[in-house]
Amino acid sequence: MSYFRSDIEAMKGYTPGEQPKGRVLVKLNTNENPFPPSPKVIDAIRNYPFEELRKYPAPYSDSVREAASKVYNIPADQIIAGNGSDDILTILFRSFVAEGNSVGWLNPSYSLYPVLANIQGGEHLTIDLKEDFSLPENLAEKAKGSKLFFITRPNAPTGNAFEKERLRQFVADYDGVVVIDEAYADFCTDNCFDMIDEFPNLIITRTLSKSYSLAGIRAGLAFSNKNLIQGMHKVRDSYNVNGLSQAAATAALLDQEYFLANTAIIIKTRESVEKTLKNLGFDVKPSEANFLFCIPPMDAEKYTHAVKEGGFLIRYFKTTGIDNYVRISIGSENEMDEFLSLTATILKDNK
Ligand code: PMP
Repeated sequence: MSYFRSDIEAMKGYTPGEQPKGRVLVKLNTNENPFPPSPKVIDAIRNYPFEELRKYPAPYSDSVREAASKVYNIPADQIIAGNGSDDILTILFRSFVAEGNSVGWLNPSYSLYPVLANIQGGEHLTIDLKEDFSLPENLAEKAKGSKLFFITRPNAPTGNAFEKERLRQFVADYDGVVVIDEAYADFCTDNCFDMIDEFPNLIITRTLSKSYSLAGIRAGLAFSNKNLIQGMHKVRDSYNVNGLSQAAATAALLDQEYFLANTAIIIKTRESVEKTLKNLGFDVKPSEANFLFCIPPMDAEKYTHAVKEGGFLIRYFKTTGIDNYVRISIGSENEMDEFLSLTATILKDNK
């Protein structure tokens, strides 16, 4: 006999990207940032009044929301903070999905959505992207009947940013709540923030894990109108972002200079890595994120293993339909130079 709910017993759960133990590998598998956090983050942690740790942290993460309000030019009462944006996603499911409700997303996309849907007892409505990973026609029609719909822009793991005007139309036509997951938007030429005031049913999520080099701190944000944000506050854990994380996230957001400089380097590196991979025979898909999604000119799984032997972790998806692809996060310029020369050797050896 199992103590678990029967549907939880049967489900697979989310498998996070591999975190290496023992041998030192360069991690190009989970879209982390190669740069350390801002020196101001380090100062904020060093100077944290540690005696305060005996008390609970600010329940509404006030300093984080105020910093985000300044940076994104949105009132703080239209912002909620989370323990990473995965926590925000959990809050969204708890807020909008009751047992048996339909929840939608595009395929391929972030594989946590179906797991959270299962936990909440929601029904899946999966809509396939076109072969070139662009949006399918009649999206609102296809999404009909669902209560909540996730769009990842730029998309993961494919890297492309869906046409904004198509999304605008979708949000206008759709009956439920649309979440645009902008985990990678800082590496993209634009974002969907200007749509927040236009629609009562739109939520945008962000993370500090990628562009702010804070994956280890766990800090994420959601932006929407006051009404939806207030409802989400009701279902989050009372103290969902710990005090040290709040201090670190606040300092990171306020150091825009450091953030902008690093983001620009990552975008430049992405562009040059894309060129080199193409020259080596890869089919590289257009990316506006901090990773490249591509088909190697040899078996993708075999290539992933060979790269690991050479000291680099990249992401291979065994998922049907994309099992000839690999996803490569953009590391530092030096790491990518080494990675590309390793790749050239692997390809020569496998001719
Ligand atoms: N959304 C997408 C599309 C992601 O790829 C990730 C990272 N795996 C997240 C959300 C969650 O990021 P975090 O919880 O680190 O903020």
